[in-house]
Amino acid sequence: MLTDRMDRLLSRLTRRETVYECRRCGTTVDDGTDNCPECGSDAIVQYRIS
Ligand SMILES: [Zn+2]
Repeated sequence: MLTDRMDRLLSRLTRRETVYECRRCGTTVDDGTDNCPECGSDAIVQYRIS
């Protein structure tokens, strides 16, 4: 489960410098997503990689 999350995170990091993730369930969401598609939470956090 953790490995699956990391795979998705890493694949996203190769494409852009900012990732968005649901604070509640940890699902990685697309840029501009307001609500998590998995749990419906609007607590989307942004990580800027620099
Ligand atoms: Zn969620």
